[in-house]
Amino acid sequence: MLEVLNPATEEVVERLEPATEADADAAVARAKRAFPAWRDIKPSDRSRLLRRLAEALDAERESLAQLESRNTGKPIGDARDEMGMVVETFHYYAGAPERLLGDTIPVAGGVDVTFREPLGVVGLIVPWNFPLTIASWKMAPALAAGNTLVLKPAELTPLTALEFERIAREAGIPEGVVNVLVGPGSKVGKRLVEHPDVAKVAFTGSTEVGRGIMASAAGTIKRVTLELGGKSANVVFADADLEKAAASAPVAVFGNAGQDCCARSRILVQRGVFDEFLSLMEPAVTSMRVGDPLDEATDMGPLISADHRENVASYVPDGAPVAIRGEAPEGSGFWFPPTVLAPLSNDDRAAAEEIFGPVVAVIPFEDEGDAVRLANDTVYGLSGSIWTQNGARALRVARRIETGVLSINSNTSVRVGTPFGGMKQSGFGRELGPHALDYYTEVKNVYLATEEG
Ligand code: NAD
Repeated sequence: MLEVLNPATEEVVERLEPATEADADAAVARAKRAFPAWRDIKPSDRSRLLRRLAEALDAERESLAQLESRNTGKPIGDARDEMGMVVETFHYYAGAPERLLGDTIPVAGGVDVTFREPLGVVGLIVPWNFPLTIASWKMAPALAAGNTLVLKPAELTPLTALEFERIAREAGIPEGVVNVLVGPGSKVGKRLVEHPDVAKVAFTGSTEVGRGIMASAAGTIKRVTLELGGKSANVVFADADLEKAAASAPVAVFGNAGQDCCARSRILVQRGVFDEFLSLMEPAVTSMRVGDPLDEATDMGPLISADHRENVASYVPDGAPVAIRGEAPEGSGFWFPPTVLAPLSNDDRAAAEEIFGPVVAVIPFEDEGDAVRLANDTVYGLSGSIWTQNGARALRVARRIETGVLSINSNTSVRVGTPFGGMKQSGFGRELGPHALDYYTEVKNVYLATEEG
């Protein structure tokens, strides 16, 4: 039996019978049977059904947010924002079925026309940090393009995905189009990756598991998209609005208790303003309210599990250079205080590895070239920020930093209408925006001979 916990109280929220490989096979078979009708449905009808699903999700937004908060420990305000994004994502892609346009290309003797064909059954494997949000980034474009799907949420956080399956059914999404399987990645997830009837796997999770998925997918030449780990740099130049940068830097790494692939977990600060920046950052760290996720005033909740907390703690051994540390509750719950390590070198373990917790490394740099070199001195390339009031420098540095997503004088990463994804070992493929549809369709080219005789 799978026990689903509330990480803020360690209480069991739900007990579930985990799915098996046979259940995965049955779910794929259901999705395969449902595919032709979903592919061939009138685009305007598919669009209407997705719109209805978005409205049904909107109607249950508060209860979904409460459930997500209880299952992940994230502050209720954050959970509400995330459910808002889930609804927005379905509304956005509800507009896509009638806009999956192809080309007409004049060629010798005739014309070529292209179609954006759906792939078939897609397997979607997601992590525990933003459970329904990340699932929606995959499900909405997959469905809009005419695919059917099997979603495997993380074992720790399956509850909103199960609710989604019910809401989709009640909103009129045909039987077999959306299938949710709760079970271990090493069995159920693995089966989806190896299954010959699954055309593509879209995965978000750790780089280590992603590497294994890419290797296993080779067996069936399966399409894969991978959204993996990160160790993003928040680059603060001496000419930046330091107060603004320092006030937002803690949120950019301690949001979601640091369990965010886009966390700016390396703050690179130009040497001349290093001490000033740390002093400006201190009140923003020490005033963070860590505690009950259902309290509206809470800024940060617990970590997801005891094991994960142990791993995060290993990055702050006795004698670590803790420059600033916030407060965290004691007793039940997997709490960990916001922790700033400074000064660190880019090679220190806490600066080099993804911690996925509320621990940030602050590293000095000398000049622009040094900043770019340090920002790129990582196997990851997901996100990052640049703080400067020099516009030309901001764009110059943005072009040189090897990440899929960057923001200038801001710490935001994700918007429904714009592409999101990684470079280097943070993965490949893009989610959100119009680009996501490219990863759930295949271009088919048809030649039509028009010459007589
Ligand atoms: P994880 O890799 O352990 O698990 C992710 C999912 O993969 C889970 O559903 C799990 O059950 C499944 N899985 C595990 N082994 C599998 C296997 N052999 N075959 C198929 N599926 C398998 O990751 P996690 O601990 O749930 O999440 C944290 C990681 O996710 C971090 O590294 C983080 O950076 C990353 N992440 C990346 C993004 C992004 O968009 N780039 C977003 C969120 C999280």
